[in-house]
Amino acid sequence: MDKKTLEQEVAKRRTFAIISHPDAGKTTITEQMLLFGGVIREAGTVKAKKSGNFATSDWMEIEKKRGISVTSSVMQFDFDGKRVNILDTPGHEDFSEDTYRTLMAVDAAVMVIDSAKGIEPQTKKLFKVVKKRGIPIFTFMNKLDRDGREPLDLIAELEELLDIEGVAMNWPMGMGKGLRGLYDIYSHRIEMYRPESEATRFVPLDPETGTIKGNHPLKEDTIYQQTLDDIDLLSEAGNKFDRAKIAAGEQTPVYFGSALTNFGVESFLKSFLSMAPAPAEHELQSGNTLGADAPEFSGFVFKIQANMNPAHRDRIAFVRICSGEFQKGMTVKLARTGKDLRLNNATEFMSAQREQVESAVAGDIVGLYDTGNFQIGDSIYTGKEDIQFEKLPQFTPELFVEVTAKNVMKQKSFHKGMQQLVQEGAVQLYKTYATDDYILGAVGQLQFEVFQFRMLHEYNSEVIMKPIGARTARWIDPEQLDPRMSSSRNLLVKDLQGNPLFLFENRFAENWFKDKYPDIKLKTLM
Ligand code: GDP
Repeated sequence: MDKKTLEQEVAKRRTFAIISHPDAGKTTITEQMLLFGGVIREAGTVKAKKSGNFATSDWMEIEKKRGISVTSSVMQFDFDGKRVNILDTPGHEDFSEDTYRTLMAVDAAVMVIDSAKGIEPQTKKLFKVVKKRGIPIFTFMNKLDRDGREPLDLIAELEELLDIEGVAMNWPMGMGKGLRGLYDIYSHRIEMYRPESEATRFVPLDPETGTIKGNHPLKEDTIYQQTLDDIDLLSEAGNKFDRAKIAAGEQTPVYFGSALTNFGVESFLKSFLSMAPAPAEHELQSGNTLGADAPEFSGFVFKIQANMNPAHRDRIAFVRICSGEFQKGMTVKLARTGKDLRLNNATEFMSAQREQVESAVAGDIVGLYDTGNFQIGDSIYTGKEDIQFEKLPQFTPELFVEVTAKNVMKQKSFHKGMQQLVQEGAVQLYKTYATDDYILGAVGQLQFEVFQFRMLHEYNSEVIMKPIGARTARWIDPEQLDPRMSSSRNLLVKDLQGNPLFLFENRFAENWFKDKYPDIKLKTLM
């Protein structure tokens, strides 16, 4: 690919993730987008996959059991002149470090909110991670076909709970049974909810006055008058649309709509893709930055998925491309070891099937079959210059289990498996301060199940996991450590690097500790 083609290809890429709370409508809106992209022909395909009726891959036993498929990890399609990559952020019981880490590999995020429920806990958690990255966040207030909360309320809540300005891009004209349409503030048109024909779907507005030109039955509707009043109020008291703030993730454009009835989704997709950034430069550990259209190939591993089928021990390493062009069979350098690797087997992700990738550029994701070479956070590259991307953040685990080997005669394989599997970064290993017992921490329960399964099948070590449950992990300065501060309600452990931390039973235990030891600083990972 010559320089110009590479630049053009990169400029077309839009790579994002959808963050939401379960049931807000992420699957439904994803599916609508895939329909627009021509990847699927029928609504219900992704849904079917989710429920397991569509599982064609022999990927992971647990994945299959839970109805997730690796092919839905990344969905790629072309729309409106853009090449779109949607990275899935697994929710429900599959919520894990991977969900957070995926957010390190995207250039923008879409936040889907149920307009009847407003901002829910999982959205808040994911939002925090996105906000920290300073990437643009676009908001879709879903389920407008049902009665929900007042639009002004929903926008105010963004500021109150998430500390981000919301700027309305369109405005609902009614909701639920009274839904008439969407007043599109920036495209100067009204999108009718149930138009009689395609020709009457959009009603043009006079850009000067913001009112319907000429005659239209809507003009007699009180909801139309109400909307005009709302728009007046918004333009006086609402946040002002600010491109710089949007780019920095300080302001979120807000769109209303209904994914289920496919209302407002296409307009949303077009508007959001036009504003979402193409892949940008990346910071390197050396302090330099690397442009997305730099000629040499580079990328980093943000997720590793193990095959749970004992007959197929392979794993797949998900690589976000940051520069250059990926080509099948290319030889790259693995920054951590300095070793050369030939990338023979790569897979690109489509929603319907896995296909062999021919070439891919910055913003794209490739899956590399891996026999144990990669770790999460690894950088790979071609060319003479060393490329090491900044370290991926670690996320504070929330669930903990105590781990022991069932068979005391097999200590060797037990310790080996423990050491090697935690290297992958899916779970965190701790040891109790007093007795050196193993404790594992993770963001989601699934990680423990996968760990247990792999210990048995890959290391022939049966492990017993005793749940400790949810704990609040807080690191402390080693110099301030006094083992007498530990109790059953705030267990003292050390991480792999030997840093001390407390696992607090709950908020009360943490507050009690803070009162008792006001000088001790308690820190989280992210
Ligand atoms: P996810 O858990 O976020 O992926 O949510 P889903 O897309 O599976 O949707 C959860 C439920 O909400 C399903 O029953 C959907 O049919 C429903 N749903 C999604 N979007 C809408 C919408 O716009 N309006 C209504 N009324 N229901 C919706």
